[in-house]
Amino acid sequence: MKRSLLLKLISAYIVFVLLTLVILSTFIQHITTERQKQHEAQNLYREATLIASDYASLYYRDSFSPEELHRQISAISKYLSAEIWIISPNGNIVVDSSNLSVSQSAIQGTFKSITEFDVADFGSSYYLTGNFYNSFDQDTLTVFYPITMNYQVRGYVLLHKSTALITNTANEFTNIAFYAAGITLTGSLLLLLFFLFTVYRPLRKISKISMAYAKGEFTQKISVHSSDEFGVLADTMNFMATELDTLEEDQRKFVSNVSHDFRSPLTSIKGYVEAILDGTIPAEMQDKYLNIILSETERLNNLTQSLLDLNRFGQHGVRLDIADFDINQMIRTTVATFEGRCLTKRIRFELFLTGEELYVTADMSKIQQVIHNLIDNAIKFSYTNSSIKIETSIMNEKTILSIRDSGIGIPADSIKKIWERFYKTDLSRGKDKKGTGLGLAIVKEIIQAHNEHIDVISTEGAGSEFIFTLPLSQREL
Ligand code: ADP
Repeated sequence: MKRSLLLKLISAYIVFVLLTLVILSTFIQHITTERQKQHEAQNLYREATLIASDYASLYYRDSFSPEELHRQISAISKYLSAEIWIISPNGNIVVDSSNLSVSQSAIQGTFKSITEFDVADFGSSYYLTGNFYNSFDQDTLTVFYPITMNYQVRGYVLLHKSTALITNTANEFTNIAFYAAGITLTGSLLLLLFFLFTVYRPLRKISKISMAYAKGEFTQKISVHSSDEFGVLADTMNFMATELDTLEEDQRKFVSNVSHDFRSPLTSIKGYVEAILDGTIPAEMQDKYLNIILSETERLNNLTQSLLDLNRFGQHGVRLDIADFDINQMIRTTVATFEGRCLTKRIRFELFLTGEELYVTADMSKIQQVIHNLIDNAIKFSYTNSSIKIETSIMNEKTILSIRDSGIGIPADSIKKIWERFYKTDLSRGKDKKGTGLGLAIVKEIIQAHNEHIDVISTEGAGSEFIFTLPLSQREL
């Protein structure tokens, strides 16, 4: 991922800022000015109505002198900040609030006149904007109201207010909107920065390192230490990387172990066969070497079988053929198969079995393999003229099996590793040339497939005890 997300965010922010400014300075400005103009026109119209009905009609009834009228409307004019005219239908200005001389000359019959004045120019509206027949230098809002007496229009009240004054008020409103927008934009900028630090930066770190993971480089770690979802994601990915790294290392070790374990018997088989064929080994000696070849092929066979077993157990959901069987009987039968080897090594079995029969619920053939592998190891690593104790007991609705020898034992630093595939302690390497280092890995897989536990207690030079649990059969409860 390039900086595209950041670029998108910043572009979106800039567009947002520009849009806000354009909207404020055009639409909002226009709308507020128009609103203000209408509002002002309404106010002036109301005033015009009052002037027409009160002062102007009094004037036309001759109850008001022109000076009196002028004085009154001048006062109102100041209050409204607007010029007030009384104009006759033919355009003669009778009173001008801003110009006393116009009113005075009107008294003498000489009128300032707007000859083009035509009330029809207002159309259906009650106000106009412009310079009112060139009467003003600047834009003006003009509101009119007719003065009627005896159903006859005698004149009009005209109120003129500079639109600059109206725009100023509208601008004040727009300025407030600008301030509000300024605060909002600063707030959103802060939000953007916050997002940048809390979301974008961790996301970038995670994405950069996950690319390295995709290339198979698992040594790098993600340094996001927050307690939010990103922190959790980073921790999970770091854990995943460590696991994958270990897995890769395990796979490498596995392949090199398999190759090594296959190569050594194959090399000796090849060597002996060649020696027999080219006559290096004389005919009378061939039997001995053919037996060695046979035992090496057996070893290869065992190795292949163990690998296949492990592969099967390693897959999740290995199918177990669960049934009730007598574990005491199984121990007795298995022990009997080792009689020959025990005689040569002068090893005795001591069985401490609970009850005559002890039923467990498990996969019979797989548990037999477990017991076989453990007894096989016990014999292999026992001193001559020693004993192996096998015990069954019941605890918390579980059957506990223990196989204890008084052999060479396992060094403390190897205890955890003995369950690994192909692992052999240095001690055993000298004594056990035939072992594959897969037996205990298979044992562990089988016990775990049953959701049970297996453990070992061992002291170097004193012996080892392997203990595992099995579910007690219902018939024993
Ligand atoms: P192997 O085929 O070599 O016996 P295992 O997986 O059964 O492979 O055992 C792994 C290693 O654990 C052995 O090589 C040996 O070093 C050690 N080990 C297993 N059982 C015993 C035991 N009863 N006494 C001493 N060492 C043992």
